[in-house]
Amino acid sequence: TQPSLSDVPKRYVAIIGGGLVGTLATLYFAQRGWDVNLFELRKDPRIPENSENSGIFQRSINLALSVRGLSALSKPNLDLEKIVLESAIPMKGRMIHIGKDKLSSQPYGSFGENIYSVERNFLLESLFNTVESFNNVKIYFQHQLKRCDFDKGLLEFENKEDGKLVQYTADLIIGADGVHSTVRRQLMRIINMNYQQEYIPHIYCELTIPPKVTEKGNETEFIMDSNHLHIWPRHSFMLIALPNKNKSFTCTLFMPHENFDSIKTEDDLITFFQCNFPDFIQLIGEQQLKKEFFHNPKGSLLSIKCKPYHYRNRAIFIGDAAHCMVPFYGQGMNCGFQDVELLDSIFDKYNITSFRSDDDKLNLALEEFTNIRQPDSVAICDLAMYNYIEMRSRVTSPLYLIRKKVEDWLHWLFPRRFVPLYTMISFSTMRYSDAIQRWKRQRRIFNVTWITVSTGIAISVFWRYYYRRLRW
Ligand code: FAD
Repeated sequence: TQPSLSDVPKRYVAIIGGGLVGTLATLYFAQRGWDVNLFELRKDPRIPENSENSGIFQRSINLALSVRGLSALSKPNLDLEKIVLESAIPMKGRMIHIGKDKLSSQPYGSFGENIYSVERNFLLESLFNTVESFNNVKIYFQHQLKRCDFDKGLLEFENKEDGKLVQYTADLIIGADGVHSTVRRQLMRIINMNYQQEYIPHIYCELTIPPKVTEKGNETEFIMDSNHLHIWPRHSFMLIALPNKNKSFTCTLFMPHENFDSIKTEDDLITFFQCNFPDFIQLIGEQQLKKEFFHNPKGSLLSIKCKPYHYRNRAIFIGDAAHCMVPFYGQGMNCGFQDVELLDSIFDKYNITSFRSDDDKLNLALEEFTNIRQPDSVAICDLAMYNYIEMRSRVTSPLYLIRKKVEDWLHWLFPRRFVPLYTMISFSTMRYSDAIQRWKRQRRIFNVTWITVSTGIAISVFWRYYYRRLRW
């Protein structure tokens, strides 16, 4: 007789990395009924003194959340989308700071679509709070993965509290341990993994524009329009600002490290900002600028592409561990969240249960994840690089602005037939690789039409002028 499902042992999944993607993956697996062990190197970020010292604040304080991320957060019974949106600030477009006091608003979508500014720590806390409501999840903070034996499902951690090595076993190992992933490094030793990594010359530093105190002095308000992502594009470098719930703005200066190195004294700093961002000094205040610029950490930016993401039915890695990208499309987290949603839908397709009875199906499911997700990750990593130039330079070009206006207008006229690239990436869940292909096709048609129409106009203007002169 066949054993009943209740006789079959349940599967353990070990999720390595309690960042944004790892905690969301924990929720999805917990809801599937798996027993989940979540291991995180740092202390519990919900305890304030931990988050300040844990390095969480070395990564961007706030993030742009868009449709892909929201779709993953909207999983039934979790209520996460609602919790997150209640604290998020909608941003309907870019506000370009061209020169001193000269502003130009560029809407993101033709139909008033928004992306949202959310605070990283709030999002992480909300995810951990929801994780804790499942009794089939155990969280191990201060556990750093050191080694894995994937075939035996054996994991070795250093417990940071006492420095001791501890071992755990798991049927499935999920690496969500970020850009310098140990799971990925360990897998590289046993499979033929293609791996490509590129650091860009720009590094970043975060600065804070404090809230403005109202004239009465007892309240605060935003010092700039809070429903935009502000950009100061200066061609080879740029500054951006996203609003926070407490009415401050978190700003990020992206600049080649030589420029950072050339600013050695407070006078150098003020001269540099007066020359390039004079309005910004007024917004942040000289003292705050000096304090944060020299005190805040400088982070490097890199892009990682690799393949495959899985090992048999034993392991898979997701999020930044699989596809770290430069942050200029605001998609790193959104893409990582979509990984979790995709993996879940593939498990549904293969009907993978939490019982150890269908190992072959699990193998197929993990392989399918690599096959679907890898071309999409490459596509968004490339687009993020492309946007790196668009944000700091192209957004001020008249040709870009005319083109954007025409594209928005075409989308408004033919919402299904013509969809701008930004809309496909930020306001849809379509595959990134399909979005790129469709964009290239649209661009070809657009360019041919553009050249034909402008040549036609030029010929008719010339003809009319020439014809009149001939008649005179
Ligand atoms: P992480 O957030 O890096 O989490 C990995 C976790 O694993 C960490 O908690 C770490 O402590 C833990 N860990 C690491 N090693 C081990 C180990 N050996 N053992 C146990 N635990 C381990 N994305 C957006 O979508 N929108 C944005 O606007 C945006 N802005 C950004 C701005 C900047 C400046 C940067 C740098 C990134 C930005 N991103 C943005 C990208 C986003 O931050 C990342 O894509 C996202 O944080 C990835 O989440 P993750 O969980 O995969 O990795």
